[in-house]
Amino acid sequence: MDLILQKYEVVIGLEVHAQLNTLTKMWCNCEILKSAYENTKICQVCTAQPGALPVLNKQAVQLAVLTGLAHGATIHEQSSFDRKNYFYPDLPKGFQITQFYRPICTDGALEIELKSGEKKLIAINRIQMEEDTGKSTHFGDYSLINLNRCGVPLIEIITGPDMRSAEEATTYLKNLHANLVFLEVCKGNLQDGNFRCDVNLSLRPLGSTKFGVRTEVKNLNSFKHVEQAIHYEIQRQGALLMAGEAVEQQTLLFDAEKLVTKVLRSKSNADDYRYFPEPDLPQIKLPAALIKQWEKLIPELPMAKKSRFVRDYQLPVYDASLLCDEKELSVYYEQCVTLYPNGAKKIANWILSELLHYLHEGHLTIEKSPITVQAMGELITLIDEGVISGKMAKEIFPMMFDEKKMPKNIVEEKGLVQSNDGDKIVEILKELIALHPKEVEELKGGRDRVLGFFVGQVMKKMQGKANPQLTTDLLKKLLELPT
Ligand SMILES: [Zn+2]
Repeated sequence: MDLILQKYEVVIGLEVHAQLNTLTKMWCNCEILKSAYENTKICQVCTAQPGALPVLNKQAVQLAVLTGLAHGATIHEQSSFDRKNYFYPDLPKGFQITQFYRPICTDGALEIELKSGEKKLIAINRIQMEEDTGKSTHFGDYSLINLNRCGVPLIEIITGPDMRSAEEATTYLKNLHANLVFLEVCKGNLQDGNFRCDVNLSLRPLGSTKFGVRTEVKNLNSFKHVEQAIHYEIQRQGALLMAGEAVEQQTLLFDAEKLVTKVLRSKSNADDYRYFPEPDLPQIKLPAALIKQWEKLIPELPMAKKSRFVRDYQLPVYDASLLCDEKELSVYYEQCVTLYPNGAKKIANWILSELLHYLHEGHLTIEKSPITVQAMGELITLIDEGVISGKMAKEIFPMMFDEKKMPKNIVEEKGLVQSNDGDKIVEILKELIALHPKEVEELKGGRDRVLGFFVGQVMKKMQGKANPQLTTDLLKKLLELPT
């Protein structure tokens, strides 16, 4: 790999197909329902019965426009649909309706930030609307076709050849994915094929401005597979070029088990799809006022939210990124902070360590969290007011999670209230000081670690209920140490 990268530059462009989050299909009223039985969400239009005519879904247009606006694209007041002609059994019309000549959005961009801190702008050349095909499932000597997906609205988001490594490509994809989910344009479930990616990759000698021959790896539906496919293609193409052989222009599929690409078809220069304007659909005309109105629907996007969390809540960048990874998680966090404004950092810690850990173990999403925003706020309040220690809170947490109880109730039931009885603590400390002169000397000599020994002993005598901070303060006072 290193040898290849010393001689060649990697050039990557990406095409993402995102399924639009609409209730019904692109040209008919058939419901989009993942769990539906095969061939039950179909009608004359999406099965291409003779004479059936398409009617455009307005919601799909709105979602495409929101995507364009969120990425600074030009939204065209006029755009139109075209037919891409080819035969495949899961495409009953014999053509796919797409936007070839006049897409709805062009010239957008997305900024990515790499691990090194370097920022880079990736051009989004076009966003076009199109329909999905049905699905073929192949068995031994026969195949079954399910047309439920036929006519489901998609947008295809096409970048320029701007990326130079797997890291740049996957960072772009993760950011784009997060944006689409925050915009509620796409559900973004990768395993359901809501967000699929084609990788175009070529190599060229370092310093060259001419592009090399590229291959296209189709239909990747995981960020990991994108990374693996890119690494494989760099090595495969690099080995060919180093041996003086030519790279062939091909369409490839990635085998996720063997981690190799396989040839799907070899391309002569352009597949001939005989694109022509779709005669059954009028042009889309978007009044500028409508675009302006839709623009107001754009929420705060993850990158902006992350920066705001760092600025407003003084969170480390890493914590803010984790919280903004998922829209619902960021909402949960902010609701907690609203309820308990002084605990921004502590709440982040409890969510990122304890809560996510238990959610993960229970295979739950944050929306299904048994610990409500109110319960989380109450827990932080109890710690802050000194009613319970952090250690006690960790013991209570699984009970809150499993039994969906409020922390105050658990504290009362279990008699877990932390003792702030200074007199009692002083009494125990005095006994301990008398019993452990050696440790006292060490502490006076500056060995702060011995503090833990005394606090631990007090805890033991008080069944873990002593307030550790109060104990430490009282001990220092008794020994006349600086606090
Ligand atoms: Zn239909």
